[in-house]
Parts: sequence; C-alpha cells; structure tokens
Amino acid sequence: AVEVHDVHKWYGAHRVLDGIDLTVRPGEVTVILGPSGSGKSTLLRVINHLEKPEIGYVSVNGELIGVKRQGERLKELSERAILAQRSHIGFVFQNFNLFPHLTVLDNVAAAPVATGRLAKPEALRLARDLLDRVGLADKADAYPRQLSGGQQQRVAIARALALRPGIILFDEPTSALDPELVGEVLSVIKDLATSGTTLVIVTHEIGFAREVADRVVFIDAGRIVEQGPPHEVLDRPRHERTRDFLSKVL
Ligand code: ATP
Ligand code: MG
Repeated sequence: AVEVHDVHKWYGAHRVLDGIDLTVRPGEVTVILGPSGSGKSTLLRVINHLEKPEIGYVSVNGELIGVKRQGERLKELSERAILAQRSHIGFVFQNFNLFPHLTVLDNVAAAPVATGRLAKPEALRLARDLLDRVGLADKADAYPRQLSGGQQQRVAIARALALRPGIILFDEPTSALDPELVGEVLSVIKDLATSGTTLVIVTHEIGFAREVADRVVFIDAGRIVEQGPPHEVLDRPRHERTRDFLSKVL
C-alpha cells in the first residue's frame, strides 16, 4: 500500500502540493488526472522521495520513505537507505530514460546486478523473461535508438519490473508517443493491472483510465478535488473543475 499523509510541497512561495492525503491499497490501480502544473509529477516524485515534502510524509508497504520517526519528529534517512527504499518502487517516465549505451537486454538486467540482488546470469535470464512479457524478446540485442518510442517504453516497463517492485509509478507513459504507438504500451500496462501489481498512473488517456482504474483521483492546484471509481469521477463528476477538465481532454 502507498499512504500519502497531508503532504505539502512548495518551491519558494509557490505551493505545488497543498495537503495531499492519498491511500493506494495493494493490487489497486490508481489513475491521477489533472491540468498541467497541478502537481501530478511532483506527487509521484514525492512518493519516490525524489522530492522531499516540506510537511507530511509517505509510506510504502508500511515503511516511511526517506524519513523515520523519532518521537514526534521525522528524521532524514541516509541517501543510501533512500536508494534501497527506492529500489522497491518502479518509476516509468514520459521519455523512457533508457541507458543509450546499453543493449535492451542489459538495460533490463542492469539494476538487479547493480543492487546486488542477482548475479549476472540470473539477471540476464530474468531480463529475457521480462522482455518476452512485454513482447520484445526479439529485440534483446538492439540498442534503444534502434527501437520505436513504443518499444522503448515497453523496455522501460520491463526494466522497472526487474527489481520486482511492490508498486510502479507511471508519469504520462504514453504522452511522448505517436498516436499509433500508444495502444501497445497501454496494453502492457493493462496486463500489469490485471496481474495484481499496484500501480499509480498519471495519464490523460481517459478511456484507458475507465478500463483499468480502480480509482481515479482528480488534482487541481495541488489539492485532490475529487476521487472515486471511474464511473463516478469520469461519468458523473461532482465538481465544476473536474467537469471543465474532462470537457477539455475528452
Ligand atoms: P504536467 O501535466 O504539465 O506534467 P504536473 O501536474 O505534472 O504538470 P508538476 O510538474 O508537478 O505539474 O509541477 C507543478 C508546479 O510546480 C508547476 O507550476 C511547476 O512549474 C512547478 N515546479 C515543478 N518542479 C519545480 C522545481 N524544481 N522548481 C520550481 N518549480 C517547480
Ligand atoms: Mg507532469
């Protein structure tokens, strides 16, 4: 489970997250919607402790991320401890962020080896299985630049899976793709969703959200405006701002 407790984040005088409370139960798929600049990426980055909240905290599977309690206060963990925690959280970015100088297979195998979780031969075996799972077994020896955007993003998903994360965060995984490549990436994510992986997905793909989300969360100006099952939030939004947003993206 992911628990976000009263998280506030600001840059200078600019409040980017303004009291976010969010719970994602194990196996649940949460889709986050909201206008540009509303704080969606920042929220994912706080969950992963790539950003530190000014107020509030996050726990993933019962473990506080980036901090620990000391009496009433929260104490920073070491960078090393944070890295170890982060290895249990997969993150898939808009722009794939593959290692350009590594083959597809090595991209997927890299993290389990670097973190000492697997020896190289086991990591390569796992990487081949994962590439098979995302339909790219035949691309193992290619380099990222030789792949389409949709294929690169599927490699990025396989790479995220290689650390067997308890949860995967997606930040607009299809918004850098040509329209005809969106479907293949969404279908891989859908596959993860039905296999019970805990997912938090920022996306503007409303049809996809309706299909896979257990819960849709609409964020505006750093606050959760409304949340609920897709048939409520998407089909019968209660708030004007949600209706306004949906009328623009649908
Ligand atoms: P988009 O849909 O465009 O990706 P978003 O909802 O993901 O938007 P964020 O990237 O979380 O929005 O940004 C929220 C706000 O915080 C924006 O106004 C942005 O300019 C600001 N912001 C984000 N990162 C920083 C930073 N490192 N320094 C200063 N301001 C920042
Ligand atoms: Mg963003």
